[in-house]
Amino acid sequence: MQCGTCGQHYQVDNVDVLGQQEDLWFLRVFCSACRTQYLVVAVVKEGRVSEVITDLTEAELEKFRNMGMVISDDVLDMHDFLKDFDGDFSWLFSRK
Ligand SMILES: [Zn+2]
Repeated sequence: MQCGTCGQHYQVDNVDVLGQQEDLWFLRVFCSACRTQYLVVAVVKEGRVSEVITDLTEAELEKFRNMGMVISDDVLDMHDFLKDFDGDFSWLFSRK
């Protein structure tokens, strides 16, 4: 996994697992090089890992953490979206 901003590879210490729901893993990663923090949703399916870097704000991230992985409508929507998605995440990364 590497930083979407500066390309620095994340250290294990910079990755927090926030929770897991079926094949979705919610991770918070912090880049020690450029000090950017991301919420990452990783999809683990059939041995393959795809990741989506979300554009949640810090406040939303805090709210998410405080919920303690209670599944919100937003997360369910994302789950449905990801289930229907064909696995090509390149367009998500190229949106910025
Ligand atoms: Zn960085």
